[in-house]
Amino acid sequence: MKKKHALTQTLEEISNSFQLLSANGYKGFDCSEQTLQKLATWGQLRINSPETLEDIREDIGDCQRCRLAQGRTHIVFGSGNPGAKLVFVGEGPGFEEDRQGEPFVGPAGQLLTRIIAAIKLNRTQVYICNVVKCRPPGNRNPEHAEIESCLSFLERQIAAIEPEFICALGTCAAQTILKTDRPISKLRGRFHDYLGIKVLPTYHPAYLLRNPGRKRDVWEDMKMLMKEYRYEE
Ligand code: URA
Repeated sequence: MKKKHALTQTLEEISNSFQLLSANGYKGFDCSEQTLQKLATWGQLRINSPETLEDIREDIGDCQRCRLAQGRTHIVFGSGNPGAKLVFVGEGPGFEEDRQGEPFVGPAGQLLTRIIAAIKLNRTQVYICNVVKCRPPGNRNPEHAEIESCLSFLERQIAAIEPEFICALGTCAAQTILKTDRPISKLRGRFHDYLGIKVLPTYHPAYLLRNPGRKRDVWEDMKMLMKEYRYEE
């Protein structure tokens, strides 16, 4: 069963909190019929005309918002199921991804495909995308300004898909989504919250290729993800 729309849930929570605070004598919360009605209608307006992934891709256009545009071959927007219950988010396209315009199709992508198969899913059932949509030169880490200029697209992709789970692959994805600078080693292994979505950070497949000893940790994370995912079915 798909959860209530995240926006509806958030607006309901705001509305309930206002009413609770006001009922307990706290001043300054407008709980008039008109305001409560407006809160409910905002959600409906947004839900009745939701933005699609196509709208977002169109908005990106031939993006020149940051300097990664200069070195790219293709913008790598994302691929998979637009109604996925689970979204994998990586850092940014590598050489193969830039060449083909698809996320996670190089060596790290092949490992990700196997990880997805290990949790009894396939790439067409989930959605896969990255924090930045253009390849950083030489596969360096994306810079803060590059992440900032691309972040709203990731946020909008997540809002359009409305997944129940996000698997954040590696430091960049985990820290960006969770707005933290804690290391991945401290973030992985448990679920975090992003706007009502359960976020499970784990090690990036490219890191696993360099450090195969960490595969065991990722498998522990995937077992946790699979259990919750099936439980929600
Ligand atoms: N690494 C990433 O973070 N994303 C890709 O798409 C490929 C490799």
